[in-house]
Amino acid sequence: MQKDAENLAADYSTYDICIVGAGVAGASLAAYLGNHGIQVALIERDLSEPKKIIGELLQPGGVLELEEMGLVSVLEGIDAQPIYGYALINKGVQLRIPYPEKAGKSLLGRGFRYGRFIQSLRKAAAGNPTVTMIEGRVKEFVEDVREKRVTGVRYVPKEGNQERVVRAFLTVVCDGCVSSLRNRLCNSEKKISGYFLGLLLEDCPLPYPNHGHVFLGNDSPFLSYPVSSRHTRILIDFPGRMPKLKGDAFREYLLDHVGRQLPEKMLPSFAAAVEKQNYQAMPNTIMHAKPATVPGAVLLGDSLNMRHPLTGGGMTVALTDVRALGNLLLEIEDFSQQAKVAQAIHSYYGYRHKVNATINILASALYGVFTQPDLNEACFAYLSRGGKYAAGPIALLSGISRDIRLLIRHFSAVAWYGAIRAIKPLPTPAKLSRAYCILKQAIHIIDPLLLAEYPTIGTRMALRLARIVFP
Ligand SMILES: Cc1cc2nc3c(=O)[nH]c(=O)nc-3n(C[C@H](O)[C@H](O)[C@H](O)COP(=O)(O)OP(=O)(O)OC[C@H]3O[C@@H](n4cnc5c(N)ncnc54)[C@H](O)[C@@H]3O)c2cc1C
Repeated sequence: MQKDAENLAADYSTYDICIVGAGVAGASLAAYLGNHGIQVALIERDLSEPKKIIGELLQPGGVLELEEMGLVSVLEGIDAQPIYGYALINKGVQLRIPYPEKAGKSLLGRGFRYGRFIQSLRKAAAGNPTVTMIEGRVKEFVEDVREKRVTGVRYVPKEGNQERVVRAFLTVVCDGCVSSLRNRLCNSEKKISGYFLGLLLEDCPLPYPNHGHVFLGNDSPFLSYPVSSRHTRILIDFPGRMPKLKGDAFREYLLDHVGRQLPEKMLPSFAAAVEKQNYQAMPNTIMHAKPATVPGAVLLGDSLNMRHPLTGGGMTVALTDVRALGNLLLEIEDFSQQAKVAQAIHSYYGYRHKVNATINILASALYGVFTQPDLNEACFAYLSRGGKYAAGPIALLSGISRDIRLLIRHFSAVAWYGAIRAIKPLPTPAKLSRAYCILKQAIHIIDPLLLAEYPTIGTRMALRLARIVFP
């Protein structure tokens, strides 16, 4: 039954689900639920194609999630580029690590423009007769004060300024990193670790075509990957404060400091993008998920949980969440049975925390490693050994493996590898002290991440012990 957004205000049970925000999470959830006949209202403040530097490399784990939901065709017709793996470039030395295989077939990621991907997802959602798209800015929840339950949202349509109400049995909040609704539904704190400056390069040959590239060995890493058949994204990390983007000094900094670290063949495209000032900055926000239970509403995607974008894990997490919550909702026959909806939300929060912990920890842990010179060298040397030393980490990075023990094993192995390398060939007091510092840095990186994402009794005890040795 197609819904008329104009006549909603008084009708409590108009929609099964109301979704706020048609980005990666919201649009894919609407498409998934809509394909199964669920009545969905999808409210987005701006339905035109977004021009953002976020969400442009989808890891194979995210592609698999789309496949599982029957939505992988959204990757067609958007000039998406296949991604075969990663290349690390450490002070000019290059290392290629292919993505894992499944049943003898290489798993692929995709590079695309965020805007084109989002429009494709929105089209998949809107093409469904049970999904109603509404263009408007959601202002607040509508609540049943007596029952202490969210019963919908109030929004201002894009055309006109008279507020309207959408009511639904469940409101799914997918309004992204700057969510205005999350405060009611979680106790999380946001931390901005720095900024990514994004430049769009035209006709730029990468050292390894169709690979994600991480340039290391500098103050902080920067990334590059193809996002269309003609365009390559570069994301440059600026730790701490937002860079002042204008002026000759900034231009010189980009050309000298960043340009000097790029392979020669990338320089003409890079210099052209700098001259055009074709850049945008975005904060790198980290926010662990600490949802609060509020009947009738649930958080999904960046509004619930964010990690450093270094490893390109955000969309994979969002799509994992969409499938997890979507599958639980699809088991419910009648959404007016609030106990069943509440149980689905509870199961979703518990499950998604476990499956996404590896991606969340890896993102910040790897950023920590790459910004500490000794650990950076240790990590590069460790991965260069190839075989299982590279296969495990790339399985984690690609979102294919979500095995937290595998992550802890490789992280610890990198730290010990660095410490042992530091004391070779013969230990001296200075070398031992350096090895101790490497181990201490590693503990200080992983400790808060494990406590936030994987706080089992075993981890707590191990970390307490480690903190005694490495205070
Ligand atoms: C610099 C940077 C680079 C990144 N690169 C990658 C990458 O390469 N790979 C990757 O997997 N992840 C990457 N990410 C993370 C990824 O972009 C996010 O995890 C992903 O977009 C989250 O999806 P979402 O749907 O939660 O939010 P979004 O995709 O941001 O969508 C939120 C939507 O909600 C809408 N909205 C907001 N408020 C309202 C309102 N009040 N009413 C109605 N609508 C509203 C917005 O207009 C938007 O359409 C990157 C992040 C950053 C910061």
